[in-house]
Amino acid sequence: MSRAVSQQADEQWFTSLDPRTAEVIGRHRVHSPIEVRAAVTRARTASAWWGGLDHAERKRRLDAWRALILRRLDDITELVCAETGKPLDDARLELVLVVDHLHWAARNAEKVLRRRRVSPGRLMFNQAATVEYLPLGVVGVIGPWNYPAFTPMGSIAYALAAGNTVVFKPSELTPGVGEWLASTLAEVVPEQPVLTVVTGFGATGAALCRSGVDKVAFTGSTATGKRVMAACAESLTPVLVECGGKDPLIVDADADLEAAAEAAVWGGMSNAGQTCVGVERVYVVDSVADRFTELVVRRARKLKPGGQPTAHLGPITMPEQVGVIRSHIADALDKGGRAVVGGLDSVRPPYVEPVVLVDVPQDSSAVTEETFGPTLTIKRVSDVDEAVELANATDYGLGATVFSRSRGPELARRLRCGMVSINGVVSFAGIAALPFGGVGDSGFGRIHGADGLREFARPQSVTRRRFWAPLQPNTFARSSGTLRRLVRLVRVLYRR
Ligand code: NDP
Repeated sequence: MSRAVSQQADEQWFTSLDPRTAEVIGRHRVHSPIEVRAAVTRARTASAWWGGLDHAERKRRLDAWRALILRRLDDITELVCAETGKPLDDARLELVLVVDHLHWAARNAEKVLRRRRVSPGRLMFNQAATVEYLPLGVVGVIGPWNYPAFTPMGSIAYALAAGNTVVFKPSELTPGVGEWLASTLAEVVPEQPVLTVVTGFGATGAALCRSGVDKVAFTGSTATGKRVMAACAESLTPVLVECGGKDPLIVDADADLEAAAEAAVWGGMSNAGQTCVGVERVYVVDSVADRFTELVVRRARKLKPGGQPTAHLGPITMPEQVGVIRSHIADALDKGGRAVVGGLDSVRPPYVEPVVLVDVPQDSSAVTEETFGPTLTIKRVSDVDEAVELANATDYGLGATVFSRSRGPELARRLRCGMVSINGVVSFAGIAALPFGGVGDSGFGRIHGADGLREFARPQSVTRRRFWAPLQPNTFARSSGTLRRLVRLVRVLYRR
Protein backbone atom coordinates (compact mmCIF):
# COMPACT_ATOMS: atom_id res chain seq x y z
CA MET A 1 0.00 0.00 0.00
CA SER A 2 1.40 3.42 -0.93
CA ARG A 3 0.06 5.05 2.22
CA ALA A 4 2.73 6.88 4.22
CA VAL A 5 3.11 5.56 7.75
CA SER A 6 4.82 7.76 10.33
CA GLN A 7 5.86 7.39 13.94
CA GLN A 8 5.26 10.09 16.50
CA ALA A 9 6.32 9.31 20.08
CA ASP A 10 4.70 5.87 20.65
CA GLU A 11 2.01 6.46 18.07
CA GLN A 12 1.82 5.35 14.47
CA TRP A 13 -0.05 7.44 11.93
CA PHE A 14 -1.02 6.95 8.30
CA THR A 15 -2.37 9.21 5.59
CA SER A 16 -5.46 8.86 3.46
CA LEU A 17 -5.05 9.94 -0.15
CA ASP A 18 -7.24 11.17 -2.97
CA PRO A 19 -6.87 8.34 -5.53
CA ARG A 20 -7.30 10.82 -8.41
CA THR A 21 -4.37 13.01 -7.41
CA ALA A 22 -2.51 11.17 -4.61
CA GLU A 23 -3.06 14.34 -2.59
CA VAL A 24 -3.06 13.79 1.18
CA ILE A 25 -6.57 14.22 2.60
CA GLY A 26 -6.01 13.38 6.24
CA ARG A 27 -3.82 11.77 8.88
CA HIS A 28 -5.16 8.99 11.03
CA ARG A 29 -3.95 6.86 13.89
CA VAL A 30 -2.93 3.25 13.49
CA HIS A 31 -4.78 2.03 16.56
CA SER A 32 -3.04 -0.76 18.45
CA PRO A 33 -4.77 -3.85 19.85
CA ILE A 34 -4.63 -2.24 23.34
CA GLU A 35 -6.37 0.87 22.04
CA VAL A 36 -8.99 -1.23 20.26
CA ARG A 37 -9.72 -3.08 23.50
CA ALA A 38 -9.98 0.23 25.36
CA ALA A 39 -12.47 1.48 22.75
CA VAL A 40 -14.54 -1.68 23.19
CA THR A 41 -14.47 -1.26 26.99
CA ARG A 42 -15.81 2.30 26.63
CA ALA A 43 -18.41 1.10 24.14
CA ARG A 44 -19.48 -1.57 26.64
CA THR A 45 -20.11 1.04 29.32
CA ALA A 46 -22.01 3.08 26.76
CA SER A 47 -24.05 0.03 25.73
CA ALA A 48 -25.52 -0.28 29.22
CA TRP A 49 -26.93 3.24 28.78
CA TRP A 50 -27.89 3.05 25.10
CA GLY A 51 -29.39 -0.44 25.43
CA GLY A 52 -31.32 0.75 28.49
CA LEU A 53 -33.11 3.50 26.54
CA ASP A 54 -36.48 2.57 25.16
CA HIS A 55 -37.00 2.34 21.40
CA ALA A 56 -38.66 5.75 21.22
CA GLU A 57 -35.68 7.43 22.91
CA ARG A 58 -33.21 5.76 20.57
CA LYS A 59 -35.35 6.63 17.57
CA ARG A 60 -35.43 10.28 18.63
CA ARG A 61 -31.62 10.37 18.71
CA LEU A 62 -31.13 8.44 15.44
CA ASP A 63 -33.65 10.77 13.77
CA ALA A 64 -31.60 13.73 15.00
CA TRP A 65 -28.50 12.15 13.50
CA ARG A 66 -30.29 11.69 10.17
CA ALA A 67 -31.33 15.35 10.22
CA LEU A 68 -27.73 16.39 10.91
CA ILE A 69 -26.39 14.19 8.09
CA LEU A 70 -28.90 15.85 5.76
CA ARG A 71 -27.84 19.34 6.87
CA ARG A 72 -24.18 18.45 6.24
CA LEU A 73 -24.78 16.37 3.13
CA ASP A 74 -22.40 18.48 1.05
CA ASP A 75 -19.54 17.93 3.54
CA ILE A 76 -19.86 14.15 3.62
CA THR A 77 -20.43 13.98 -0.14
CA GLU A 78 -17.18 15.85 -0.71
CA LEU A 79 -15.33 13.56 1.69
CA VAL A 80 -16.65 10.41 0.01
CA CYS A 81 -15.55 11.83 -3.36
CA ALA A 82 -12.12 12.75 -2.02
CA GLU A 83 -11.39 9.39 -0.40
CA THR A 84 -12.80 7.17 -3.16
CA GLY A 85 -12.45 9.43 -6.20
CA LYS A 86 -16.01 8.65 -7.27
CA PRO A 87 -18.04 11.22 -9.24
CA LEU A 88 -20.15 13.67 -7.26
CA ASP A 89 -23.55 12.25 -8.21
CA ASP A 90 -22.46 8.71 -7.33
CA ALA A 91 -21.49 9.93 -3.85
CA ARG A 92 -24.84 11.74 -3.59
CA LEU A 93 -26.68 8.56 -4.53
CA GLU A 94 -24.75 6.61 -1.89
CA LEU A 95 -25.70 9.13 0.80
CA VAL A 96 -29.36 9.23 -0.22
CA LEU A 97 -29.41 5.49 0.47
CA VAL A 98 -27.65 5.98 3.82
CA VAL A 99 -30.35 8.41 4.93
CA ASP A 100 -33.15 6.13 3.74
CA HIS A 101 -31.77 3.10 5.60
CA LEU A 102 -31.13 5.07 8.78
CA HIS A 103 -34.73 6.27 8.65
CA TRP A 104 -36.07 2.73 8.14
CA ALA A 105 -33.96 1.15 10.88
CA ALA A 106 -34.93 3.78 13.47
CA ARG A 107 -38.59 3.69 12.50
CA ASN A 108 -39.01 -0.09 12.46
CA ALA A 109 -36.77 -1.28 15.31
CA GLU A 110 -39.54 -1.26 17.90
CA LYS A 111 -42.06 -3.03 15.70
CA VAL A 112 -39.58 -5.78 14.75
CA LEU A 113 -37.81 -6.30 18.08
CA ARG A 114 -40.33 -5.59 20.82
CA ARG A 115 -41.75 -8.30 23.06
CA ARG A 116 -44.54 -10.24 21.42
CA ARG A 117 -46.74 -13.11 22.47
CA VAL A 118 -46.51 -16.43 20.73
CA SER A 119 -48.93 -19.33 20.99
CA PRO A 120 -47.81 -21.78 23.69
CA GLY A 121 -49.28 -24.69 21.72
CA ARG A 122 -51.75 -27.32 22.84
CA LEU A 123 -49.55 -29.20 25.31
CA MET A 124 -48.37 -26.06 27.14
CA PHE A 125 -51.71 -24.27 27.16
CA ASN A 126 -51.23 -23.21 30.80
CA GLN A 127 -48.22 -21.01 29.87
CA ALA A 128 -47.99 -17.50 28.47
CA ALA A 129 -45.09 -17.34 25.98
CA THR A 130 -43.26 -14.27 24.68
CA VAL A 131 -40.19 -13.53 22.61
CA GLU A 132 -38.24 -10.29 22.62
CA TYR A 133 -35.12 -9.28 20.67
CA LEU A 134 -32.63 -7.72 23.07
CA PRO A 135 -29.38 -5.91 22.20
CA LEU A 136 -26.20 -7.99 21.98
CA GLY A 137 -24.06 -5.28 23.61
CA VAL A 138 -21.11 -4.09 21.51
CA VAL A 139 -20.96 -4.80 17.77
CA GLY A 140 -17.67 -4.54 15.86
CA VAL A 141 -18.16 -3.37 12.27
CA ILE A 142 -15.38 -3.79 9.66
CA GLY A 143 -16.04 -2.05 6.36
CA PRO A 144 -14.68 -1.74 2.82
CA TRP A 145 -13.86 1.39 0.81
CA ASN A 146 -16.10 1.10 -2.28
CA TYR A 147 -19.23 2.47 -0.59
CA PRO A 148 -17.55 3.82 2.54
CA ALA A 149 -20.78 5.24 4.01
CA PHE A 150 -23.56 3.04 2.62
CA THR A 151 -21.95 -0.35 3.21
CA PRO A 152 -20.93 0.01 6.86
CA MET A 153 -24.12 1.92 7.67
CA GLY A 154 -26.01 -1.21 6.59
CA SER A 155 -24.62 -2.69 9.80
CA ILE A 156 -24.09 0.42 11.95
CA ALA A 157 -27.60 1.90 11.60
CA TYR A 158 -29.31 -1.43 12.24
CA ALA A 159 -27.03 -2.38 15.15
CA LEU A 160 -27.60 1.00 16.83
CA ALA A 161 -31.36 0.86 16.26
CA ALA A 162 -31.37 -2.58 17.88
CA GLY A 163 -29.81 -1.04 21.01
CA ASN A 164 -26.14 -1.91 20.57
CA THR A 165 -23.15 0.36 20.60
CA VAL A 166 -20.67 0.04 17.74
CA VAL A 167 -16.91 0.09 17.30
CA PHE A 168 -16.20 0.62 13.60
CA LYS A 169 -12.98 -0.09 11.72
CA PRO A 170 -13.25 1.56 8.29
CA SER A 171 -11.02 0.62 5.37
CA GLU A 172 -7.57 2.18 5.50
CA LEU A 173 -8.54 3.92 2.22
CA THR A 174 -11.60 5.68 3.70
CA PRO A 175 -10.96 6.38 7.39
CA GLY A 176 -12.19 9.98 7.17
CA VAL A 177 -15.72 8.93 6.22
CA GLY A 178 -15.84 6.63 9.27
CA GLU A 179 -14.61 9.40 11.57
CA TRP A 180 -17.14 11.83 10.11
CA LEU A 181 -20.00 9.42 10.86
CA ALA A 182 -18.84 8.93 14.47
CA SER A 183 -18.25 12.61 15.13
CA THR A 184 -21.66 13.69 13.79
CA LEU A 185 -23.44 11.05 15.86
CA ALA A 186 -21.49 12.26 18.92
CA GLU A 187 -22.87 15.77 18.33
CA VAL A 188 -26.45 14.60 18.73
CA VAL A 189 -25.70 11.87 21.28
CA PRO A 190 -23.05 13.51 23.47
CA GLU A 191 -23.81 11.42 26.57
CA GLN A 192 -21.84 8.27 25.68
CA PRO A 193 -19.65 7.01 22.80
CA VAL A 194 -22.28 4.91 21.04
CA LEU A 195 -20.26 4.84 17.80
CA THR A 196 -16.47 4.76 18.07
CA VAL A 197 -14.07 4.56 15.15
CA VAL A 198 -10.74 2.77 15.30
CA THR A 199 -8.47 3.29 12.31
CA GLY A 200 -5.48 1.50 10.88
CA PHE A 201 -4.73 -1.46 8.64
CA GLY A 202 -5.78 -5.11 8.63
CA ALA A 203 -4.15 -5.67 12.03
CA THR A 204 -6.52 -3.15 13.62
CA GLY A 205 -9.47 -5.07 12.13
CA ALA A 206 -7.99 -8.34 13.38
CA ALA A 207 -7.64 -6.80 16.86
CA LEU A 208 -11.32 -5.83 16.76
CA CYS A 209 -12.20 -9.50 16.07
CA ARG A 210 -10.28 -10.48 19.22
CA SER A 211 -11.42 -7.59 21.41
CA GLY A 212 -14.36 -9.25 23.14
CA VAL A 213 -17.12 -7.63 21.07
CA ASP A 214 -20.43 -9.49 21.05
CA LYS A 215 -20.61 -9.80 17.27
CA VAL A 216 -18.51 -8.81 14.26
CA ALA A 217 -20.22 -7.53 11.11
CA PHE A 218 -17.66 -7.75 8.32
CA THR A 219 -18.00 -6.50 4.75
CA GLY A 220 -15.10 -7.01 2.36
CA SER A 221 -13.42 -9.65 0.25
CA THR A 222 -13.99 -13.38 0.67
CA ALA A 223 -10.32 -13.96 1.54
CA THR A 224 -10.43 -11.46 4.41
CA GLY A 225 -13.85 -12.76 5.47
CA LYS A 226 -12.27 -16.16 6.08
CA ARG A 227 -9.51 -14.58 8.18
CA VAL A 228 -12.12 -12.63 10.18
CA MET A 229 -14.09 -15.80 10.81
CA ALA A 230 -11.00 -17.69 11.93
CA ALA A 231 -10.09 -14.90 14.37
CA CYS A 232 -13.65 -14.76 15.72
CA ALA A 233 -13.73 -18.55 16.11
CA GLU A 234 -11.04 -18.32 18.81
CA SER A 235 -13.56 -16.74 21.18
CA LEU A 236 -16.76 -18.04 19.55
CA THR A 237 -17.63 -14.46 18.62
CA PRO A 238 -20.54 -14.59 16.17
CA VAL A 239 -19.94 -13.10 12.74
CA LEU A 240 -21.91 -11.72 9.83
CA VAL A 241 -19.92 -11.95 6.63
CA GLU A 242 -20.80 -9.88 3.55
CA CYS A 243 -18.28 -10.67 0.84
CA GLY A 244 -17.77 -10.24 -2.87
CA GLY A 245 -19.74 -11.51 -5.83
CA LYS A 246 -19.64 -12.28 -9.53
CA ASP A 247 -23.18 -11.24 -10.22
CA PRO A 248 -24.90 -12.42 -13.40
CA LEU A 249 -27.46 -10.66 -15.57
CA ILE A 250 -29.78 -12.85 -17.66
CA VAL A 251 -31.45 -11.49 -20.79
CA ASP A 252 -34.45 -13.52 -21.96
CA ALA A 253 -35.69 -13.55 -25.58
CA ASP A 254 -38.72 -11.40 -24.67
CA ALA A 255 -36.76 -8.83 -22.63
CA ASP A 256 -36.91 -5.07 -23.14
CA LEU A 257 -33.46 -4.96 -24.74
CA GLU A 258 -32.89 -1.22 -24.40
CA ALA A 259 -33.59 -1.43 -20.66
CA ALA A 260 -31.50 -4.60 -20.29
CA ALA A 261 -28.53 -2.99 -22.05
CA GLU A 262 -28.80 0.13 -19.90
CA ALA A 263 -28.92 -2.07 -16.78
CA ALA A 264 -25.91 -4.09 -17.89
CA VAL A 265 -23.84 -0.97 -18.52
CA TRP A 266 -24.92 0.82 -15.34
CA GLY A 267 -24.64 -2.36 -13.24
CA GLY A 268 -21.23 -3.19 -14.64
CA MET A 269 -19.60 0.22 -15.03
CA SER A 270 -21.03 2.62 -12.44
CA ASN A 271 -18.68 3.33 -9.55
CA ALA A 272 -16.03 2.10 -12.04
CA GLY A 273 -17.33 -1.43 -11.52
CA GLN A 274 -16.40 -1.38 -7.84
CA THR A 275 -19.77 -2.58 -6.59
CA CYS A 276 -20.17 -5.87 -4.74
CA VAL A 277 -23.60 -6.38 -6.34
CA GLY A 278 -22.53 -4.92 -9.68
CA VAL A 279 -23.08 -6.87 -12.89
CA GLU A 280 -19.96 -8.78 -13.99
CA ARG A 281 -21.34 -11.54 -16.26
CA VAL A 282 -24.14 -11.33 -18.83
CA TYR A 283 -25.96 -14.35 -20.31
CA VAL A 284 -28.13 -13.43 -23.27
CA VAL A 285 -30.41 -15.72 -25.25
CA ASP A 286 -29.12 -16.33 -28.79
CA SER A 287 -32.08 -14.87 -30.67
CA VAL A 288 -31.52 -11.38 -29.15
CA ALA A 289 -27.78 -11.56 -28.48
CA ASP A 290 -26.59 -9.50 -31.47
CA ARG A 291 -29.04 -6.68 -30.90
CA PHE A 292 -28.41 -6.62 -27.13
CA THR A 293 -24.61 -6.61 -27.54
CA GLU A 294 -24.86 -3.77 -30.05
CA LEU A 295 -26.91 -1.72 -27.54
CA VAL A 296 -24.40 -2.40 -24.77
CA VAL A 297 -21.46 -1.48 -26.98
CA ARG A 298 -23.08 1.77 -28.07
CA ARG A 299 -23.69 2.81 -24.48
CA ALA A 300 -20.35 1.65 -23.02
CA ARG A 301 -18.35 3.51 -25.68
CA LYS A 302 -19.81 6.80 -24.53
CA LEU A 303 -18.55 6.45 -20.95
CA LYS A 304 -15.42 8.32 -19.99
CA PRO A 305 -13.51 7.92 -16.74
CA GLY A 306 -11.93 10.94 -15.10
CA GLY A 307 -11.29 12.92 -11.97
CA GLN A 308 -13.76 15.73 -12.60
CA PRO A 309 -16.97 15.66 -10.52
CA THR A 310 -19.10 15.10 -13.63
CA ALA A 311 -17.10 12.14 -15.04
CA HIS A 312 -19.05 8.97 -15.75
CA LEU A 313 -16.55 6.88 -13.81
CA GLY A 314 -13.94 7.69 -11.22
CA PRO A 315 -10.59 5.99 -10.69
CA ILE A 316 -9.92 2.52 -9.35
CA THR A 317 -9.76 3.45 -5.69
CA MET A 318 -7.43 0.69 -4.52
CA PRO A 319 -4.23 0.84 -6.60
CA GLU A 320 -3.57 -2.94 -6.33
CA GLN A 321 -6.94 -3.70 -7.98
CA VAL A 322 -5.72 -2.32 -11.31
CA GLY A 323 -3.43 -5.34 -11.66
CA VAL A 324 -6.33 -7.73 -11.02
CA ILE A 325 -8.48 -6.02 -13.65
CA ARG A 326 -5.65 -6.10 -16.19
CA SER A 327 -4.97 -9.78 -15.54
CA HIS A 328 -8.65 -10.71 -16.02
CA ILE A 329 -8.82 -8.87 -19.36
CA ALA A 330 -5.55 -10.49 -20.45
CA ASP A 331 -6.73 -13.95 -19.45
CA ALA A 332 -10.01 -13.52 -21.34
CA LEU A 333 -8.16 -12.42 -24.50
CA ASP A 334 -5.49 -15.15 -24.17
CA LYS A 335 -8.20 -17.79 -23.94
CA GLY A 336 -9.89 -16.66 -27.15
CA GLY A 337 -12.23 -13.91 -25.94
CA ARG A 338 -12.76 -10.74 -27.98
CA ALA A 339 -13.00 -7.18 -26.71
CA VAL A 340 -15.86 -5.35 -28.43
CA VAL A 341 -15.29 -2.26 -26.30
CA GLY A 342 -11.81 -1.31 -25.05
CA GLY A 343 -9.13 -3.88 -24.31
CA LEU A 344 -5.85 -4.05 -22.45
CA ASP A 345 -5.10 -0.46 -23.44
CA SER A 346 -8.13 0.64 -21.46
CA VAL A 347 -6.18 0.11 -18.25
CA ARG A 348 -4.55 3.48 -17.54
CA PRO A 349 -4.02 3.77 -13.79
CA PRO A 350 -5.64 5.13 -11.81
CA TYR A 351 -8.42 4.90 -14.43
CA VAL A 352 -9.83 2.00 -16.40
CA GLU A 353 -12.02 2.71 -19.41
CA PRO A 354 -15.01 0.45 -20.06
CA VAL A 355 -14.22 -2.99 -21.44
CA VAL A 356 -16.82 -5.36 -22.91
CA LEU A 357 -15.68 -8.92 -23.67
CA VAL A 358 -17.48 -11.60 -25.69
CA ASP A 359 -16.75 -15.26 -26.47
CA VAL A 360 -14.84 -15.60 -23.21
CA PRO A 361 -14.46 -19.23 -22.08
CA GLN A 362 -16.24 -19.91 -18.81
CA ASP A 363 -13.01 -21.02 -17.10
CA SER A 364 -11.35 -17.62 -17.63
CA SER A 365 -10.67 -15.57 -14.47
CA ALA A 366 -12.74 -12.82 -16.15
CA VAL A 367 -15.73 -15.13 -15.60
CA THR A 368 -14.80 -17.01 -12.44
CA GLU A 369 -13.28 -14.31 -10.20
CA GLU A 370 -14.51 -10.94 -8.96
CA THR A 371 -12.96 -8.33 -11.28
CA PHE A 372 -14.16 -5.18 -9.48
CA GLY A 373 -13.56 -2.98 -12.50
CA PRO A 374 -15.66 -1.49 -15.35
CA THR A 375 -15.72 -4.69 -17.37
CA LEU A 376 -18.47 -6.99 -18.61
CA THR A 377 -18.39 -10.42 -20.21
CA ILE A 378 -21.32 -11.23 -22.49
CA LYS A 379 -22.07 -14.86 -23.28
CA ARG A 380 -24.58 -16.04 -25.84
CA VAL A 381 -26.72 -18.98 -24.60
CA SER A 382 -29.22 -21.21 -26.36
CA ASP A 383 -32.03 -20.56 -23.85
CA VAL A 384 -32.69 -19.27 -20.34
CA ASP A 385 -32.17 -22.73 -18.85
CA GLU A 386 -28.56 -22.61 -19.98
CA ALA A 387 -28.34 -19.04 -18.68
CA VAL A 388 -29.53 -20.12 -15.22
CA GLU A 389 -27.11 -23.06 -15.19
CA LEU A 390 -24.12 -20.86 -16.07
CA ALA A 391 -25.25 -18.07 -13.72
CA ASN A 392 -25.24 -20.60 -10.88
CA ALA A 393 -21.88 -22.12 -11.87
CA THR A 394 -19.92 -20.06 -9.36
CA ASP A 395 -18.95 -20.33 -5.71
CA TYR A 396 -20.30 -16.81 -5.19
CA GLY A 397 -24.00 -16.10 -4.65
CA LEU A 398 -24.64 -12.46 -3.87
CA GLY A 399 -27.03 -10.69 -6.29
CA ALA A 400 -28.41 -11.21 -9.78
CA THR A 401 -30.47 -9.45 -12.44
CA VAL A 402 -33.08 -10.91 -14.76
CA PHE A 403 -34.59 -9.19 -17.79
CA SER A 404 -37.66 -11.07 -18.94
CA ARG A 405 -41.21 -9.94 -19.67
CA SER A 406 -42.89 -13.25 -18.88
CA ARG A 407 -40.61 -15.39 -16.70
CA GLY A 408 -38.90 -13.03 -14.23
CA PRO A 409 -40.07 -14.50 -10.89
CA GLU A 410 -39.64 -18.07 -12.11
CA LEU A 411 -36.04 -17.44 -13.20
CA ALA A 412 -35.28 -15.49 -10.01
CA ARG A 413 -36.27 -18.46 -7.83
CA ARG A 414 -33.90 -20.75 -9.71
CA LEU A 415 -30.87 -18.53 -9.04
CA ARG A 416 -28.65 -19.49 -6.12
CA CYS A 417 -28.08 -16.07 -4.61
CA GLY A 418 -29.38 -13.75 -1.92
CA MET A 419 -31.03 -11.01 -4.01
CA VAL A 420 -32.47 -10.63 -7.50
CA SER A 421 -33.70 -7.56 -9.42
CA ILE A 422 -36.18 -8.28 -12.22
CA ASN A 423 -36.29 -5.76 -15.08
CA GLY A 424 -34.15 -3.36 -13.04
CA VAL A 425 -30.65 -3.45 -11.61
CA VAL A 426 -29.43 -3.43 -7.99
CA SER A 427 -32.92 -2.24 -7.01
CA PHE A 428 -32.94 -4.43 -3.89
CA ALA A 429 -30.17 -2.35 -2.26
CA GLY A 430 -32.45 0.68 -2.25
CA ILE A 431 -35.35 -1.06 -0.54
CA ALA A 432 -34.57 -0.84 3.15
CA ALA A 433 -37.15 -3.46 4.12
CA LEU A 434 -35.38 -6.16 2.07
CA PRO A 435 -32.64 -8.27 3.66
CA PHE A 436 -29.27 -7.92 1.94
CA GLY A 437 -26.63 -10.65 1.81
CA GLY A 438 -25.43 -13.71 -0.01
CA VAL A 439 -24.65 -17.39 0.10
CA GLY A 440 -21.51 -19.46 -0.55
CA ASP A 441 -18.35 -17.39 -1.04
CA SER A 442 -20.47 -14.24 -0.83
CA GLY A 443 -20.95 -14.87 2.89
CA PHE A 444 -23.88 -15.31 5.23
CA GLY A 445 -26.11 -13.35 7.57
CA ARG A 446 -28.23 -10.40 6.51
CA ILE A 447 -28.09 -6.64 6.87
CA HIS A 448 -31.08 -4.36 6.10
CA GLY A 449 -34.73 -4.99 6.83
CA ALA A 450 -36.24 -6.86 9.76
CA ASP A 451 -33.65 -9.66 9.35
CA GLY A 452 -30.92 -7.01 9.53
CA LEU A 453 -32.29 -5.71 12.84
CA ARG A 454 -32.61 -9.22 14.29
CA GLU A 455 -29.05 -9.97 13.17
CA PHE A 456 -27.90 -7.57 15.91
CA ALA A 457 -30.17 -8.87 18.66
CA ARG A 458 -30.52 -11.97 20.80
CA PRO A 459 -33.97 -13.49 20.87
CA GLN A 460 -35.03 -14.08 24.43
CA SER A 461 -37.86 -16.52 24.99
CA VAL A 462 -39.83 -16.22 28.23
CA THR A 463 -42.64 -18.40 29.53
CA ARG A 464 -44.90 -17.67 32.50
CA ARG A 465 -47.08 -20.29 34.12
CA ARG A 466 -50.64 -18.96 34.27
CA PHE A 467 -52.15 -21.89 36.17
CA TRP A 468 -51.30 -25.47 37.09
CA ALA A 469 -52.00 -27.92 34.27
CA PRO A 470 -53.78 -31.16 35.22
CA LEU A 471 -50.81 -33.24 33.97
CA GLN A 472 -47.41 -32.48 35.56
CA PRO A 473 -44.69 -34.47 33.73
CA ASN A 474 -41.72 -32.27 34.81
CA THR A 475 -41.53 -33.26 38.45
CA PHE A 476 -40.27 -36.23 40.43
CA ALA A 477 -43.65 -36.08 42.15
CA ARG A 478 -45.46 -37.15 38.96
CA SER A 479 -47.59 -40.23 39.25
CA SER A 480 -46.87 -43.44 37.36
CA GLY A 481 -49.85 -42.74 35.08
CA THR A 482 -48.91 -39.17 34.11
CA LEU A 483 -46.84 -40.01 31.04
CA ARG A 484 -49.28 -42.74 29.99
CA ARG A 485 -52.07 -40.16 29.99
CA LEU A 486 -49.84 -37.64 28.20
CA VAL A 487 -49.00 -40.13 25.44
CA ARG A 488 -52.73 -40.91 25.09
CA LEU A 489 -53.44 -37.18 24.80
CA VAL A 490 -50.72 -36.71 22.15
CA ARG A 491 -52.16 -39.62 20.17
CA VAL A 492 -55.57 -37.98 20.20
CA LEU A 493 -54.21 -34.51 19.36
CA TYR A 494 -51.71 -35.46 16.65
CA ARG A 495 -53.26 -38.61 15.19
CA ARG A 496 -53.60 -36.87 11.83
P1 NDP B 1 -10.87 -6.23 2.19
O1 NDP B 1 -11.31 -7.62 2.48
O2 NDP B 1 -9.50 -6.00 1.71
O3 NDP B 1 -11.03 -5.31 3.50
C1 NDP B 1 -12.26 -5.15 4.17
C2 NDP B 1 -11.99 -4.62 5.56
O4 NDP B 1 -11.34 -5.63 6.33
C3 NDP B 1 -11.07 -3.40 5.59
O5 NDP B 1 -11.48 -2.53 6.62
C4 NDP B 1 -9.74 -4.03 5.92
O6 NDP B 1 -8.84 -3.13 6.49
C5 NDP B 1 -10.15 -5.08 6.92
N1 NDP B 1 -9.18 -6.14 7.12
C6 NDP B 1 -8.12 -6.49 6.34
N2 NDP B 1 -7.48 -7.56 6.89
C7 NDP B 1 -8.15 -7.88 8.02
C8 NDP B 1 -7.99 -8.90 9.01
N3 NDP B 1 -7.01 -9.81 8.95
N4 NDP B 1 -8.85 -8.94 10.04
C9 NDP B 1 -9.88 -8.05 10.11
N5 NDP B 1 -10.08 -7.06 9.21
C10 NDP B 1 -9.22 -6.99 8.17
O7 NDP B 1 -11.96 -5.65 1.18
P2 NDP B 1 -11.94 -4.26 0.43
O8 NDP B 1 -11.87 -3.16 1.43
O9 NDP B 1 -10.92 -4.30 -0.65
O10 NDP B 1 -13.41 -4.21 -0.20
C11 NDP B 1 -13.72 -4.78 -1.43
C12 NDP B 1 -14.45 -6.09 -1.23
O11 NDP B 1 -15.61 -5.88 -0.46
C13 NDP B 1 -14.94 -6.68 -2.54
O12 NDP B 1 -14.68 -8.06 -2.56
C14 NDP B 1 -16.43 -6.41 -2.50
O13 NDP B 1 -17.19 -7.31 -3.26
C15 NDP B 1 -16.72 -6.55 -1.04
N6 NDP B 1 -17.95 -5.88 -0.68
C16 NDP B 1 -19.02 -6.65 -0.31
C17 NDP B 1 -20.23 -6.05 -0.02
C18 NDP B 1 -21.40 -6.86 0.43
O14 NDP B 1 -22.32 -6.28 0.99
N7 NDP B 1 -21.45 -8.15 0.23
C19 NDP B 1 -20.41 -4.59 -0.13
C20 NDP B 1 -19.22 -3.89 -0.48
C21 NDP B 1 -18.04 -4.53 -0.76
P3 NDP B 1 -7.75 -2.38 5.54
O15 NDP B 1 -8.54 -1.68 4.48
O16 NDP B 1 -7.10 -1.45 6.47
O17 NDP B 1 -6.87 -3.47 4.98
